[in-house]
Amino acid sequence: MQDGVRKKRQNLHIRTLMANSAEGFVIVGPDGAIRVFNETAEELFGVSRTSVVGSAAESIGCAKLASAIRAQLKAKRPKIKSVQVELERRVLSCKLAPFDDDLGGGLAVVVRDDTELFEQQERAEAILAGAGDGLIVFTPDSRIAYVNPAVVEILGPKASQAVGHQVSLATLLGLEIPGSDDAVACWEKLECTHLECPQYGADDLRCWLRCGTPSPDGEPTSYRDKQKRCIKCEAFLDNAPLLGEPGTTGVTEATIEEPEHRVVEVRTNPVIDRMGRYLGCVSTLHDVTAEREIAVMKNEFVSMVSHELRTPLTSIKGYVDLIVDGEAGEINDIQKEFLEIVQENSDRLVSLINDLLDISRIESGRVHLKIEPLEIPDVVQGVLDTFRTYAEQSGVNLTSQVARNLPRVAADRDRVGQVLMNLVSNAIKYSPGGGDAKIAVKRHGDKVNIEVTDSGIGISEEDQRQLFTKFFRVDSSLTREIGGTGLGLSICKSVIDLHGGEVWVKSREGQGSTFAFSLCVAPDDLVRTPAVEGPLKPGTGTVLVIDHNPDIADLVETYLRKRGYDVIKAHSAAEARAAAAKVKPVLITLDVMLDDGDGFELLQLLKDDPNTADAPVVVLSIVTDEGKSLRHGAADYLEKPIDKSRLV
Ligand code: ADP
Repeated sequence: MQDGVRKKRQNLHIRTLMANSAEGFVIVGPDGAIRVFNETAEELFGVSRTSVVGSAAESIGCAKLASAIRAQLKAKRPKIKSVQVELERRVLSCKLAPFDDDLGGGLAVVVRDDTELFEQQERAEAILAGAGDGLIVFTPDSRIAYVNPAVVEILGPKASQAVGHQVSLATLLGLEIPGSDDAVACWEKLECTHLECPQYGADDLRCWLRCGTPSPDGEPTSYRDKQKRCIKCEAFLDNAPLLGEPGTTGVTEATIEEPEHRVVEVRTNPVIDRMGRYLGCVSTLHDVTAEREIAVMKNEFVSMVSHELRTPLTSIKGYVDLIVDGEAGEINDIQKEFLEIVQENSDRLVSLINDLLDISRIESGRVHLKIEPLEIPDVVQGVLDTFRTYAEQSGVNLTSQVARNLPRVAADRDRVGQVLMNLVSNAIKYSPGGGDAKIAVKRHGDKVNIEVTDSGIGISEEDQRQLFTKFFRVDSSLTREIGGTGLGLSICKSVIDLHGGEVWVKSREGQGSTFAFSLCVAPDDLVRTPAVEGPLKPGTGTVLVIDHNPDIADLVETYLRKRGYDVIKAHSAAEARAAAAKVKPVLITLDVMLDDGDGFELLQLLKDDPNTADAPVVVLSIVTDEGKSLRHGAADYLEKPIDKSRLV
């Protein structure tokens, strides 16, 4: 084919392409005159080809584009440049590409109508801006791509100034996390992960997105746990505290002081597109300042009311127990029956108040564990003894299976006993037709697992997800009939969480349940907290009972005298010091709430006084200051209403 014919053909191809393209084409010569202006360009700019071809760029009617064209033509070494222009109601994206040819070069402008895209973006931004929660969008390279107005309101102007920069979430929130990078980094470092997830591979994003449901022992039980196993890079582990778990309550809480005091819940989640590609992550900030203030007030209120109820209840329960035990003379069968009803109900009231106080203490972080090397088989035996009669009465065959040579665990004896009692009590309670309940204990790596299995009513999968939340009870006529508060399991979970252990459940409706928890094996160097080693021999000395409430001091005296102890009472700090100087007590019981001084100061004085320094002090109180008591030298701590058998 001849050159001229070929060129003609090529020109025809180009013209056909330009005429039918969805994009506008404008070619400008080196002199600034428009040479080519296709049909789409006519439509986009609303001017006819005849009115612009041969004229300057201004003839298009868009000053911003005209000046960009002129600047490009003047530039010594022009590069491709993009300009976005708004014309009437259209948003046009223009790409200005310089070219060289025999006739002195020029500029090709490709114009695309991005109106719809722009409107979609505007709509999306309006939605994000309207969200009540703060939203921070991170790019895959850890830059802040967007913050909505709620973030600026929470964090101040520094939030909008951070857009476009590599600022970590921790820095933005003003949190000090030593050695940590930020949440974004860990998603980036996929290459350094180890494949350990039993279900999905580490690069499988489903694994990250899975919500935590209780699972069998040994397997990761939560979303975060699963992430930790799959993504072992250090950045991830450092940042784990900043990552929220969707669908769970384990969300990071941050306190922000500038520009004003706020408490926010922070969740960070990866953004993944349809193809499974990681696009960065989004952190949401939910302002919970008001909720937290109300929660503190509620906790204080519950705590105050419960304390106020405890003092009279200690007397009611204590004296009724004494009458029922025949310690106040003989009573007839009807009196006994009625008093047993009072006894049963005061016990229920005590346990309800204890649960409420426990919840309020846990929520306000006032629980101090007395961690010691603990023999789980001893705890299991104690629980079996406690529940033997109840199980028999309920037609439940309660057994245990404890592995041999179990190591000791690092745990608080009373708290672990409380958890196990709760689970065993539920196992019996929710087996209304009788059946089997078994406590099984076995070692699992560096943990000891304790399981309570029953053949009772079982729990549906949906209900299992909420079991450990406060006040949750399965909604059925049977559970309504059985009665309860829905606090027990939530307390169990919090207590085991405090121990660094885990709690889980396996159950099928109508086929029974297994509730289990794990505790860490005690390290060799864990030492025992000093405590009273065994009971004193009756008749071997005098016990000094210090309590500002005479009824309760009398009650303690009665308990102790019945068991053969000598007792001297004091109702104030002054009386206590005078009594201690008269007799050298072998043991002191002390209620720290005194009218004439601080009980802890008295405890200190008693420990400093050579006459009483060696006498173990057992704090009996409605104020739970176990940690403080032990720090001040108390040998043990008993909460009111007093458990008579533990005291004696
Ligand atoms: P409570 O027993 O006082 O209601 P819990 O927190 O101990 O409170 O238990 C919460 C709910 O979990 C119960 O109301 C019951 O519906 C369910 N549940 C607990 N343990 C069992 C079990 N062993 N079998 C069947 N359902 C149980």
